[in-house]
Amino acid sequence: LPEYAFIGRSNVGKSSLINMLTNRKSLAKTSGKPGKTQLINHFLINKNWHLVDLPGYGYARVSKSSKKVFQKFITQYFSFREQLVTAFVLVDIRHNPQTIDLEFMQWLGENGIPFSIIFTKADKLKPKAIENHVQDYKNILLETWEDMPNYFITSSSKNIGQDEVLGYIDELNNNMNTEEN
Ligand code: GDP
Repeated sequence: LPEYAFIGRSNVGKSSLINMLTNRKSLAKTSGKPGKTQLINHFLINKNWHLVDLPGYGYARVSKSSKKVFQKFITQYFSFREQLVTAFVLVDIRHNPQTIDLEFMQWLGENGIPFSIIFTKADKLKPKAIENHVQDYKNILLETWEDMPNYFITSSSKNIGQDEVLGYIDELNNNMNTEEN
């Protein structure tokens, strides 16, 4: 089955987003404690695709050696995943573009892994500020990329962006099916 991976810095709101996408209150564990999601979790959605919950990267308070282990884990995941259609890189809409996220996107690009960006916690900013932050990302990304990657603006607490993300995944799944037939 096709797979879609969700990844981002710890505390970016990944568990909450996964809960929103899967319509569950407590499927992926959310917690106030950053760095808690450590293992790769798979969720079967609509019996036709897998949502893959990857460990959060860049948690400042973990040791260097455990950062290396995370990195290895993530690298391994991406090297062997034939089913992977797209990765969703989550970034907190409130933050300015962060090196760690930009480097990770760069790494995905160099390894030929398609990705989209999911901006999280959109409820925390006014529309104008959201627009400005997205523009900041565009400006930086367009220095290295020909096009702005696909992106979504979401809020798990206000249920924003769910249809867009799920619709996009459906569309990709459908495209694959028609290519096969
Ligand atoms: P993870 O570490 O990336 O899995 O992040 P979590 O989903 O556990 O969320 C981290 C923190 O951000 C928690 O305190 C959540 O309540 C909060 N949070 C997550 N998503 C949203 C959102 O869309 N809006 C707001 N206001 N807070 C959020």
